[in-house]
Amino acid sequence: MKVLVGLVTAVLLLLGTNAAAAQPTDTTPYYWQVPGAGEHVLQSAGFDVEHGVDGAVQVVGDQRVADRLVRLGYRPSRFDSVYKPVATGRSADIGVQTFYGGYRTVAEHEKHLTDVAAAYPALTQVYDIGDSWRKTRGLGGHDIRAICITKKQSGDCSLSPNSAKPRFALIAQIHARELATGELAWRWIDHVTKGYGTDAEVTSILDTTELWVVPIVNPDGVDIVASGGNQPLMQRKNANNTSASCSAPSYGVDLNRNSTFKWGGAGTSRCGETYQGTAAGSEPETKAIEAWFKQLFPDQRGPGDTEPAPVTTKGVMITVHSYGNLIMPPWGWTWNANPNATQLAALGRKMAAFNGYTVVAEGDTTGTTDDFTYGNLGIASYTFEIGSGSGSCGGFFPQYSCVDSLFWPKNKGAFLTAAKAAKAPYAS
Ligand SMILES: [Zn+2]
Repeated sequence: MKVLVGLVTAVLLLLGTNAAAAQPTDTTPYYWQVPGAGEHVLQSAGFDVEHGVDGAVQVVGDQRVADRLVRLGYRPSRFDSVYKPVATGRSADIGVQTFYGGYRTVAEHEKHLTDVAAAYPALTQVYDIGDSWRKTRGLGGHDIRAICITKKQSGDCSLSPNSAKPRFALIAQIHARELATGELAWRWIDHVTKGYGTDAEVTSILDTTELWVVPIVNPDGVDIVASGGNQPLMQRKNANNTSASCSAPSYGVDLNRNSTFKWGGAGTSRCGETYQGTAAGSEPETKAIEAWFKQLFPDQRGPGDTEPAPVTTKGVMITVHSYGNLIMPPWGWTWNANPNATQLAALGRKMAAFNGYTVVAEGDTTGTTDDFTYGNLGIASYTFEIGSGSGSCGGFFPQYSCVDSLFWPKNKGAFLTAAKAAKAPYAS
């Protein structure tokens, strides 16, 4: 018996040199490089597939996920750690609820909006635009909150599409685990409120434009992520766990596949990361932001797929995601160019001049937020993918310090450019 155990141990040790060897107890997530794999094949097999580097597909998961890939004939290799070394105990923010080195909880984001509104009543208006899934079920949850920021004149910041000032809407953390994105919304809110009257560029923007921000579209998801503390859970979707017996963090509906414009197409299993839900706009978070977008922007584009929005169109929308260092205009639902593709690429390049990201249409994603806001309303719409795929500032869980050392300095100018373009995004 002892000999046998010794043999088994030796075999396991040998296998240990293979990155995909069985270590059933290791639940630490990694980014795995999967050479020769097709993104869609892996996605429909239920894998958590991400933007690869050098054309290779990446999968996120622990050793068991890598073992499954091996059983399917792939040769995954560990590319990078999901968790980065975390500095704890930020002395500057004692009493603030943070996790993973400084990322703010949903409660802190909510307090932030309340604090900003109290400090800048002449510049701001906060709205409750709907409920998260858990709140609709009486399971706790949250209101989804939006803030309007402008130098308020009579009638400004009202939920009515025919506004006197053009509007720039920025939303973040619709994918809960994309941690840096909510923090960027936070920086943006602070920059434009604190800068009014002292920063000429900000002052000019707030005098002429309404800035709207939803820092956390998916607060239930962020609660799940934050519950992991310094090892945040990898919840991407909302908290809807009624449709299947998926285990955390794989339950929920992907709110960036659930929008009503061209919803459907190739989906994934109910436990898959891009599960689109049972129907177009089935989720309360989707309903909330779509209703809110329709309150902010008139429909400025005809119904045909090839009808461009006119050059007089007003309004810009950015939905902030991570990762990939990309600025992605529509379409997602088709690889065909959208009818404003040239103009959207031109404004995309103006923003990319600040953050250095690659401007490229997304393709092969249905039910996305930006397809809805462009396709349905005609406004200039973009998905930003913040950060690279590896290193201490890469992936879903970059070190907190990366927000201020890298992401915010790179994207501040891009957001300001979007705000200035809101009056005529297709004429710039
Ligand atoms: Zn995302």
